[in-house]
Amino acid sequence: RQEQFRALREVPSVTRDGKPITLQMNAGLLVDLPQLAESGADGIGLFRTELQFMIASTMPKMDEQESFYRNVLRQAGDHSVTFRTLDIGGDKVVPYFRSADEENPALGWRAIRLSLDRPGLLRTQLRALLRAAAGGELKLMLPMVTEVNELRLARELLNKEVRHLSRFGHQLPKTLQFGAMLEVPSLLWQLDELMAEVDFVSVGSNDLFQFVMAVDRGNARVADRFDTMGRPFLRVLQQIVSAAERTGTPLTLCGEIASKPLSAMALLGIGFRSISMSPSSIGPVKSMLLSLDLAKLQEVLLPAIADTQSDKTIREILADFA
Ligand code: PEP
Ligand code: MG
Repeated sequence: RQEQFRALREVPSVTRDGKPITLQMNAGLLVDLPQLAESGADGIGLFRTELQFMIASTMPKMDEQESFYRNVLRQAGDHSVTFRTLDIGGDKVVPYFRSADEENPALGWRAIRLSLDRPGLLRTQLRALLRAAAGGELKLMLPMVTEVNELRLARELLNKEVRHLSRFGHQLPKTLQFGAMLEVPSLLWQLDELMAEVDFVSVGSNDLFQFVMAVDRGNARVADRFDTMGRPFLRVLQQIVSAAERTGTPLTLCGEIASKPLSAMALLGIGFRSISMSPSSIGPVKSMLLSLDLAKLQEVLLPAIADTQSDKTIREILADFA
């Protein structure tokens, strides 16, 4: 099968009924980069920048960050890379950055919250990213946004760094895209403000599922208790897709559900046209979509999601369809 998937690398990802789909991969370290060519991914849809911090024994300095990002961009070549700013805290532990013990770390001082409280940390990272992408394309996104105002504050810090670099005669990125991850349910009631504020939105379905369903993603006892392809969660995702369509906002999804052919199929069915997954899933997911008649899928899937009476699960319905 590996060989079969390898043969698909150069095949464009278009459904059988002609809908082009963007398949990107998730990454976080330089060792992941060769996977771009190996898998045939369209780009890196999620670059987890905290990994560099998690494997270091001390906080990486600005120039270490810069040269790391520069390397990533160089190795990615023509492929676009979406850098996520530091997502420390919760399940992502950085040993030398000890916060006080928290009773609920997933709901605690983490990600953009920590970055806004330690603006020096975020500004250093933004500066490193801006310098590394000088003359090229920079795409960045902020994790765990809860209120749109957090994005405005982060954008101000970014603008400060841009002004600072240009004042000192540094070359800036040619294009800059500023996005948000949608992983906290509160954003579902701020979709219009959110989408007005950003160039793109990327759904972090691992955390969004954790918070929507109130199941700890790291607790084996409950993590698989509810189906990511259950009606409640798919209805949530549908709301996001329709807001993105209404506002013309580029939308993607970078959680684990994009990595399995059946749930990736559900995502395409509800309207996602871009997803990012582990590199080893690109082949299997592409092979699924090449044989997928999207219009036919939608005829089956959309009424099934809306159905309030059915005792068949969406997973069963999709397995039958597949
Ligand atoms: C997510 O939450 O779905 C996500 C992609 O980010 P991470 O798994 O790194 O939290
Ligand atoms: Mg997350």
